[in-house]
Amino acid sequence: RAKALGGNHFRFYNPSLDAQSLEALRMEGALQRALQRNEFEVLYQPLVAVDGGAIAGVEALLRWKRDTGTLLPHDFLALAEETGLIVPIGEWVLATVLAQQAAWRAAGLPRLRVSVNLSARQFHDQDLAAQVARLAREAGCELPCLGLEVAESVLAQDAPGTLDTMRKLAAMGVLLSIDDFGSGYSSLANLRRFPIHSLKVDRSFVSDITSDRDDAQIVKAVIALAHSLKLLVVAEGVENEAQVAVLREQGCDLMQGYYHSAPMTASQFEALLRRGAHEAAAA
Ligand code: C2E
Ligand code: MG
Ligand code: MG
Ligand code: MG
Repeated sequence: RAKALGGNHFRFYNPSLDAQSLEALRMEGALQRALQRNEFEVLYQPLVAVDGGAIAGVEALLRWKRDTGTLLPHDFLALAEETGLIVPIGEWVLATVLAQQAAWRAAGLPRLRVSVNLSARQFHDQDLAAQVARLAREAGCELPCLGLEVAESVLAQDAPGTLDTMRKLAAMGVLLSIDDFGSGYSSLANLRRFPIHSLKVDRSFVSDITSDRDDAQIVKAVIALAHSLKLLVVAEGVENEAQVAVLREQGCDLMQGYYHSAPMTASQFEALLRRGAHEAAAA
């Protein structure tokens, strides 16, 4: 390996480092084959109204199922982003979600907005809007009820073409959310400049909302800011009733988290929707 670096590079043989880079290479190869092998799965986690608990939307969350177990985005997204594999993987996620939405609609289930997470590379792709339109057509989902989530840090990069992409998406009825809000450094001006629909308050603020006064104040301020800009607020990572009570008092619109439901398979989510439809019909 030292030789492969060529020229004047000289490296001491380091068995642990080599094992590490070997593992990275293996992982990259496996990630490359994962699409063909159909190893990815999209899980769905409902967004529910803080007031009343109705399901108001759902977020698509990617999983990689290997023989050795299921990997979370944290385990492979950085590699996918570095290698560019996120492009075909991201396209697969969008296609899967749109096909799922068409199937749910054909089955007569209520129309629900599905939100898909985008990495920096996907979001900065000049062809994103055209790609979404094409995938929706191909999935037989002419009027996609889609949301896209980008992390605050991605928006803050303020890359050329961002505003143009966002406008095109908004014109197609695709709603944009700023994910992990509060964890990055987006300027407040961005919130006005871009056609944004909602802010998702980062889980790190929500988790201690009942015990940490600063966190509670921050969430309260984010909700006030969002509402003054006519944006919806979603609290991420809501795990217990006490957090729900604070969020309700603060006027938060939607919430998402283990308290209501962990991410689940498409068929589990469909069953949940059917139960909800029955309850609504019975009420
Ligand atoms: P995110 O978009 O902020 O998604 C929320 C994360 O919080 C998810 O982690 C979800 O499983 C987790 N979560 C939900 N409720 C709770 C809770 O009550 N407590 C705790 N502790 N966690 C909760 P996950 O599924 O591991 O995804 C992590 C991140 O990976 C996502 O963060 C998103 O940024 C990214 N991601 C997920 N799917 C995709 C995808 O298809 N494409 C891209 N580019 N990124 C994705
Ligand atoms: Mg998200
Ligand atoms: Mg988030
Ligand atoms: Mg997060």
